[in-house]
Amino acid sequence: MDIKHIVFDWDGTIQDTVSSIVQAWQDASVELALAVPSAAEVRSMIGLSLQVGITQREPSLSAAGVEAFIATYRKHYFALEAQPSPLYREIPTLLTELAQQDIVLTVATGKGRNGLDRALNSSGISHYFAGSRTACETASKPDPLMVTQLCQQVGITSAHTMVVGDAYFDMAMAANAGAYGIGVSYGAGTVAELQRARPLKIIDAPLALLDLL
Ligand SMILES: [Mg+2]
Repeated sequence: MDIKHIVFDWDGTIQDTVSSIVQAWQDASVELALAVPSAAEVRSMIGLSLQVGITQREPSLSAAGVEAFIATYRKHYFALEAQPSPLYREIPTLLTELAQQDIVLTVATGKGRNGLDRALNSSGISHYFAGSRTACETASKPDPLMVTQLCQQVGITSAHTMVVGDAYFDMAMAANAGAYGIGVSYGAGTVAELQRARPLKIIDAPLALLDLL
């Protein structure tokens, strides 16, 4: 392996937003009189775009119903994240180390652009990232489009690219793009879910990534 580019998932990989996402899904479901998903059900959808997630869960919802869910979810999520969730503790150190090794860093997320920009701006780590893609601008994971566009932007092929994420969809996106998939077990997805997409490795903490380079 000669890794020159790492694509990071955001929620559950960089920032510990999992409990806010679960709460916002449940609050939006209550407000719109939809069936309220369990925490485990929400966790299994984290990583998909909201549009794909709610459509899979509520296939009979109209287009207007989907739009209403997305708007209601975002209202609750942004209220919960008025005090931003913390970054995973080792993330700033990891990003500093990777930057010193001249590895190009980018973000591919199921968040909306507004949500990602808010998270980046409040994180104190936005300067580490050379680019980002959101599902609403491209295609939801596990489609490889976010990774292939980021590879084109930074001028590094997928054969020299690693995708780091906490969800099955991240690992499937990596495989679909021809990039290496590294799962993290500290986020929303379970190890069994991650293994279904055959990642190269599953790590238990951010700094363990350095041992793989
Ligand atoms: Mg994630």
